[in-house]
Amino acid sequence: MWYTNSYRRHLCDMHIDDWDEKFLSEFSPEEYYENLKKANIQNAMLYFQSHVGLCYYPTKAGKMHGGFRGKEDAMRRLVRLCRENGITVTGYYSLIYNNWAHDTHPEWRMVTPEGKSLRETSTEVVAEFAGKGLCRYGLCCPNNYEYRDFVKKQIEEMADYFAFDGMFFDMPFWNHFCYCDACKERWAKEVGGELPIIRDWKDPKWLLHVEKRRQWMGEFAQFATDESKRVAPHASVEHNVAYAGLPNAERGLAEEVLQATDYAGGDLYGDIYSHSFVCKFYRNVTQNQPFENMVARCMPTLSKHTITKSEDTLRSAIMVTAAHHGATLVIDAIDPVGTLDGRVYDRIGDVFAKEALYEKYYEGDMVEDIGIYYSLRSKFNAYGEKWCNHGACVNTVKNMIMNHILGGITGSFHPLEGYPILMAPQLTELDAGEYERIIDYVRKGGQLYLSGGDCHGLLKEFFGAEIVGRTKEKVVYIAPNEKAADTFDYFNAKYPMHFEGTAPIAEGIDQDKVLATVTLPYTNQDTVAFASIHSNPPGIATQNPAVAVTGYGAGKVIWSALPIEEVDMYDYRRVLLNLLKRFFVFEQTIISDAPKDVEITGFRAEDTTYVNAVLLNEDYKARRVETFTVLVRSDQEPTDVMRLSDESAIDFEYEDGYVRFEVSDLDIFEMYKVIY
Ligand SMILES: [Zn+2]
Repeated sequence: MWYTNSYRRHLCDMHIDDWDEKFLSEFSPEEYYENLKKANIQNAMLYFQSHVGLCYYPTKAGKMHGGFRGKEDAMRRLVRLCRENGITVTGYYSLIYNNWAHDTHPEWRMVTPEGKSLRETSTEVVAEFAGKGLCRYGLCCPNNYEYRDFVKKQIEEMADYFAFDGMFFDMPFWNHFCYCDACKERWAKEVGGELPIIRDWKDPKWLLHVEKRRQWMGEFAQFATDESKRVAPHASVEHNVAYAGLPNAERGLAEEVLQATDYAGGDLYGDIYSHSFVCKFYRNVTQNQPFENMVARCMPTLSKHTITKSEDTLRSAIMVTAAHHGATLVIDAIDPVGTLDGRVYDRIGDVFAKEALYEKYYEGDMVEDIGIYYSLRSKFNAYGEKWCNHGACVNTVKNMIMNHILGGITGSFHPLEGYPILMAPQLTELDAGEYERIIDYVRKGGQLYLSGGDCHGLLKEFFGAEIVGRTKEKVVYIAPNEKAADTFDYFNAKYPMHFEGTAPIAEGIDQDKVLATVTLPYTNQDTVAFASIHSNPPGIATQNPAVAVTGYGAGKVIWSALPIEEVDMYDYRRVLLNLLKRFFVFEQTIISDAPKDVEITGFRAEDTTYVNAVLLNEDYKARRVETFTVLVRSDQEPTDVMRLSDESAIDFEYEDGYVRFEVSDLDIFEMYKVIY
C-alpha cells in the first residue's frame, strides 16, 4: 500500500461556506500543488466534501460548493496533478458533520432529548472548533438509514469521479448522545424500553447505553469502510480516531472504530507530552504501520488561522512522531477566498527536509520496558472526581519520558507478555473481560502496578480483597508504614501524601502486605467545621489499606488505592518510581542522563539498536541542549555506533553489558545506530 513508506503528509481544511461569491473564487489547483511540492509532501489529503456538506465535485446526491461553478473539475485537476507528480492522494469526507444534509433533511438530525438539534437551539455564535458542537455545526445521526444511504451514494460518486489512493472519513464519534427516532427504535429493538438520559456512571443501564453507542459508531465506521472498499478496492481507508486518544468516554470511539481503519491516525491539540502518548498508543493499536499523527500548523489550534508555529516548534512536533517511526500529517486551513499562505509551505518544507533524512531507518520493534495499560472503556470516574485511566496513562507517559524509562501503551488491543512491568491504572469492571489476560500475565512472572478501587475482580484475585465502600472525606492521605518509609521520601505517617477525592475502603488484605494506610482529615468536607481554615490537614489515622504488595504465581502486584501515578507533581512522580524500583525487579534496556525535556526512544531491528533523541520544544527557538550520555544494554560488543544525520561513526565504550556513548549538540532531533 502507498502508506507504507509515506511519512510526510498534508491536509488543508476546506470547511468553507458559499454564501459569498468570493469564497473559493481564487482556488487554484496549480498554486495548491506548487505549495505541496515546496513542502516536500508525499501524500495529500484533499477535500471532496466538508463539514459544511458542500462537495468539491459535481454531486447528484448532495450540493456542490457554489465557488466551484464553472470550474467543476478543479479538485479533480488537483488530484491528477498530485498523482502524476508522485504525490499520492487521500480523499477527505466528513461523516455526521454535514450542515447541508442537516439543513435539507431535518429528519436526519442528531437531536437532544428535547428533540432539537444543537444547530437549531444553540444561542452561542462563537464557535472555536468542531468538538464544541455549537450552532455552526449540523450533525446527522449515523443510525438514520436514509442518511446512511446518502453517504453510500456520495462514496459511489467520489469513487466514480476521482482516482485516489485512499479515503479518509472524519468525525466518526458522538458529539452528543442522540435521541432521534432512529436511535430510540434501535435501542427499543436491541435492549428494550427507553433510552436513558441521566448520566449515572454507576447505573448499569447507563453503562450499557455507552457501550451501545460504541458498537453503533463502530458499525457505522465499518459501513463506510465496506462501501469504500466495495467501490474502490485498491484504496486504503482511514477513520479519524482522535477521540480514542482523548479522555471523553461519551464519544463512543473505541476498539470498534479502530477495527474499521487500515491505520490509526487523528488530530490532537494538547501539549507535546500528550502527542507523545498518542504516538505510543497509535503505534500499538494500528492495524498497519506507520500510524499517522496529525499536527496543526496553527498555534495552538486551527481556530487561530493567522498564527503559525515557529520552525522549531513545528520541528519538535514532527520529530516526536519521527521518534516513534510514525508519519506526520500537517494540517493547514485554506483562506476563505481559496488561497494558501506560501510562507507556511516554505516552513513545512524546511522541517520535512530535515525529517526525511531519517526515514530509511524507521524500522524495528519499539523498546518498551514498561507497558501502560490504556483502557478505552474506563475513561470515566464514577464518583465525579478528576481521576481516571486516561489521565493516569498520559501522566505516566510524561513521568517515564522525564526519567528516560522507555514505555509503551498496551491494552485490550495489544499483547501484555514481554513487558517486565505493567502499569494498569484505575481499571473498572467494564474491563472485566480482560482480567484473565492480566491475571495470566502476573501468574507467568509479570510485575503489575494497579490503582483505584473499581477493579474488583483483580483485587479479589490478587489480594483476596473486597471494596466495601468509600470514605465520606473528599480529601484523603496515604500514610506509609515502616515497610515503605524510605519509598515515600519525606511523606510519612505524620505528614502523609495528599489526594483530592474519596478513597476506596478495602477489607481482607493481610496486614503484612500493607505498605501504607489511609489517613483522614479531622473533618469531612460536607460540613463547615474545620481544623485549619485553608486546608484539611491529616488528623485521623485508619487501618484502611492504601498501598499493598503481594506475590502471585511467579509474579508480583503492587496496588495503590489512590492514583499516585496521575498527580502531575514531582513528589508523586518520584514516589511512583520508588515503588516500582523498590518492590519490582527493575531493569532498563536504555538508560540516559539526558535533560528531562529530551525524550529518548529505542528500536530493535536485526543486528541493530536505534536510539532516537528528541527535544520537546514548544518555544519559538529551541534551547541549546547539554551533552548527555546514553547506555544501551547489550550482550555483545558492537562494531560501530553511528550518528545518522551525517552517518558518521562516533566514539563508544562497552563495559558491564552496556554500550555507552555521548550525545552532544542535539539540534532538536538525532538518531543513533548501534551496530553489532
Ligand atoms: Zn439518532
